[in-house]
Parts: sequence; C-alpha cells; structure tokens
Amino acid sequence: MKITGDHQLIKKINTYIVLDTIRREFPISRADISAKTGLNKATVSGLVSELIEAHFVTETGLGESSGGRKPMMLLFNQQAGYAIGVDLGVNYILAMITDLSGAIVKEKKIELADLEVEAVTDKLKRTIHGLIRKAPPSPYGIVGIGVGVPGLVDDQGRVLSAPNLGWESVPLRDMLQAEFGLEVSIDNEANAGALGEKEFGAGRAVSNLLYISVGIGIGAGIILNDALYRGVSGFSGEVGHMMLAQDGPRCGCGNRGCWETFASEKALLLQANKLRLGDEPTPRLHALLAAAKQDVTGVRELFADTGHWLGIGIANLVNVFNPALIVIGNRMSLASEWIADSIHESLDTRSLAFHRKHTSVAYSQLGMASSALGAASMAIGHFFSKMKATWE
Ligand SMILES: [Zn+2]
Repeated sequence: MKITGDHQLIKKINTYIVLDTIRREFPISRADISAKTGLNKATVSGLVSELIEAHFVTETGLGESSGGRKPMMLLFNQQAGYAIGVDLGVNYILAMITDLSGAIVKEKKIELADLEVEAVTDKLKRTIHGLIRKAPPSPYGIVGIGVGVPGLVDDQGRVLSAPNLGWESVPLRDMLQAEFGLEVSIDNEANAGALGEKEFGAGRAVSNLLYISVGIGIGAGIILNDALYRGVSGFSGEVGHMMLAQDGPRCGCGNRGCWETFASEKALLLQANKLRLGDEPTPRLHALLAAAKQDVTGVRELFADTGHWLGIGIANLVNVFNPALIVIGNRMSLASEWIADSIHESLDTRSLAFHRKHTSVAYSQLGMASSALGAASMAIGHFFSKMKATWE
C-alpha cells in the first residue's frame, strides 16, 4: 500500500503529540496517553515503541493499577541530549547547559567590562566551548544553542539594535552557527525570560502571561494562548516605552516620559544618586538593597516609588491583556521585598476591577536564570520541531 503524504503528516503529528504528552506528564502509562490524546491504544503503543527506539522514552517499573494488570510506566528521557542556554546581559554572560527538561547541569557566569562586539563574542564562544566540553555523553549530544540578548532581534537572528551594549546589526546567529555547527536560536531577553518562566517557572500552569523584565530598561515577553506573541516584525513587548507622562524625563529612545524613565533600575539608581550614599559616586543596585535592609534614610522610599511606577505600568498592561499572571523578572525582582506593597497599591487602585480580579503578580521563580533557561528552551523547542520533520 502506498502511504500518502497525508498519512505521513498525520503520523508525524501524532508522534509529536505522544512525545509532548510524555514530556509534560511523565511518568505516564500508554493507556493514559491514549485517554489524554484521544489516539487509540494500538497507535499509541506503536508510536511509543518508536520513541523508545529513538531514545526519547524509557520504561520504568509498574504503576498503580485501576483494577486489572498494573501498567508499565513511561518516562521522558531527559538525558537524551543537552542544550546550551545563554543570557547575554548588559554587563555579564550567564551560560548554562541543561538537559532536555531544563534541569541545569552546569552554569558559568562571567562579567563583561569591554562591550565591543568582538570582545563579547569571543568570550561568548569560549564560554560555550567550555560548557560543551563538560556535557555528559548522550544519544543526541548538544541539540542546540539559545541566546537571549538585551535588544531587538530579527528573524535571521541578527541583533538589530542593543543600545545598552552599543551594538547595531550584529549577525549573532550566523557567527555562532559558523563557530559551532549547531542550530542557534537568538531572541530578545524578555521573550526568552517569558519562555523560561512559562516552561520551567512561575508560569507553568497558565496560558496567558506577561513577563516583565525590569533591569536597566524595561521589556516584556508576552505569552498568549501558550505561545509567544512576537508582532509582525518580532519586536513586540517594548513596554518600557509606554508613555506615562507627556512632559516626563527624556528617555534613551528620544521620547519623553516613557515607563522606564520612572520604573527601571536605571531610574532608581539616578534617584539614589541624590541621596549621596557612602563613597561610591554611583550606588549600584546591590548597595541600595543593602541600604534598604539597614533602613538607611530615604532608601526604602525610593524602592516604594519604583514599585509605585511599576504598578502604574502594570495596571495599563492588565487592562489591555487581562493576563492570568504577571511575572516580574530580571534584576528588580531582587528588590521584591521593597517594591511589592507599592506595586500592589498602584495596581489595585488603577487597574479596572474586572480585569484585576483574576490576575496574579509573581516574581521570577527562576531568579536570574529565567532568560538563560528560556534560551535553552528555545533550543530544545527547535530540536523537537526538527525531529518532528524527520519522523516517518
Ligand atoms: Zn522611551
């Protein structure tokens, strides 16, 4: 019998569905996969055998019986391969190697002083090479590399503009692909952070969430109906440039009164300069957090003010998107203790009551790792979609 293209396509899709179900719900029996997916048991059994042969699935001991024979349980083989996830920050590189379910195997953080493209990419390559050397042996080896960057990225993985790095039009994906001969995914750090929290962190149980990355600037990763919303050119999420005051402070983008001129780490540090803390001419966030702990005069008020402005912007976003969850990530999440109350106050008094009702606010569950883990999940996602195309 000639197998038609349609049959092959359906089989690819079914294999993917079965694997995806096992990945998300393991340990799971064949009967439960059948019940969850609506695929008949014979089909599930056939596909599971192929997935076992392909090293993606393993069988474990017998599970609980609901009467009758105890079922054999299936596990996702997380160690069938490994991914590299990198958060390229404004003054650091955080790189990690994870297994296929995002468990961190090794990580490395280095500080960046020289932000020139060549200096940074050299360090990036060396760091990735170092991690790859430490990867445990596995059937698929390193399945891909994902990088989150603080700037605009086009669909060719080119960093069009990263003002805080001083980069313009850097073909980062091509550079890394040429160096490693592996699939490379590049995205904005807020998008990567949103994916990280959705896949492995605070957002696992929700379909609609906004990840607000509050660092030197502010950006958002928008997940709607379980998928990242990228906009027509991939540039969605520049929430830091929502205009909140027509005559507000001048923003780096050229406009005035953008949200990040009130609520970012940069805005906080500018305000903190006026307090003249200690000997350092410019206090850093960590010094400021320590000062808040010691209740140095005026510092907690500064954080409360940041929280106040964060809450105003978040109220706007809640009214527009009606998300289930807002995750505050990146460096300002370190200050949650000092900003949470005023965020809630602004949010509760300024968002529309019906919109606010079912929205929760959380702080990044993955801490500073959201973006790097999200980048790893991009690489893993690419790997599985490529696998899908090869299944027969
Ligand atoms: Zn702006």
